Amino acid sequence: MKLVSVVVPCYNEQEVLPMFYDEITKVTDQMKADFPELSFEYLFVNDGSKDNTLNILRSLSLKDERVRYISFSRNFGKESGMYAGLRNAKGDFVVVMDADLQHPPAFLPEMYSYVRNGEYDCATTRRVSRKGESKVRSWFARKFYKIMNKISQTEIVDGAQDFRFMSRQMVDAILDMTEYNRFSKGIFSWVGFNTRYIEYENVERPAGTTSWSFWGLVKYSLEGIMAFSTAPLAIASMLGVISCIIAFVLMIITVVKTLVFGEEVAGYPTTICVIFLLSGLQLFCTGILGQYLSKTYLETKNRPIYIAKETEETYRQRQKENSAGGEQKQEAR
Ligand code: UDP
Ligand code: MG
Repeated sequence: MKLVSVVVPCYNEQEVLPMFYDEITKVTDQMKADFPELSFEYLFVNDGSKDNTLNILRSLSLKDERVRYISFSRNFGKESGMYAGLRNAKGDFVVVMDADLQHPPAFLPEMYSYVRNGEYDCATTRRVSRKGESKVRSWFARKFYKIMNKISQTEIVDGAQDFRFMSRQMVDAILDMTEYNRFSKGIFSWVGFNTRYIEYENVERPAGTTSWSFWGLVKYSLEGIMAFSTAPLAIASMLGVISCIIAFVLMIITVVKTLVFGEEVAGYPTTICVIFLLSGLQLFCTGILGQYLSKTYLETKNRPIYIAKETEETYRQRQKENSAGGEQKQEAR
């Protein structure tokens, strides 16, 4: 028997969660019929949702014993959600996918066919279009991938997603990366292994809204750059070298000019411009240093990546105790 764990990070997904559950059970039941060696568990990670997500998960876990969940003490972000899911998944294969059906469960059988006999360690989708996304967003996304791949050794494939069907070996490798600043697109690629890409057209959310604002994405891409490249640090020193060279040339010009034409008190505006430019550059480079320092600072604190408050196990246990307590009360009456 082979167990497949389906890990699903959820943040305020009350609208799509029932739809997702219907869809995933339909697909996995069909897979079970086609590949009798398979069994499934669904591991939902409730990332501090403020809506009814947790209650939906609770009732699903009572109804269907394949449903497991971990509920965080607050919102830790999708990266932490995925990490918690991978950490707690028991499967020989682990699938990571979004709850919003933008990662269509219908791909699972094809993905399994690639990893089934060990030919690939990971099957994933790559969207070839960004249909339904704003033009500005797509433009920035494409630029991000271009820059990222120039300055980082780790290849980050444009359009690659966190929709993955992975072998246990690859999951264990990912779990060995216990860094606090997690950028999964980089981590998936950094660990290596054979990855099979399946291309598909972007699918829009059937309900609910994306939790990504434009600035959220900008911040996330900067995180990604800093997590997988130290190029900005090199840029800082390059800028330093370039301004030193310019300063040197200017110095020679000034000396020669003074010797030839004599002293003149002029050039106040140029002085001001140069001071502004250079102090700006200095602050910019100190800023880059600061960014890396802050990442190192957080990393050395060694804080947990997530804090679980409730799981389906503790919930079922409590339910059992409550009903036992109820019976005792009735007997006492
Ligand atoms: N998500 C999460 N924690 C967060 C934000 C998002 O677990 O803080 C989950 C969300 O429930 C969904 C997935 O991550 O299952 C992708 O989120 P979303 O659809 O908002 O992102 P997009 O598809 O627009 O990239
Ligand atoms: Mg989505």
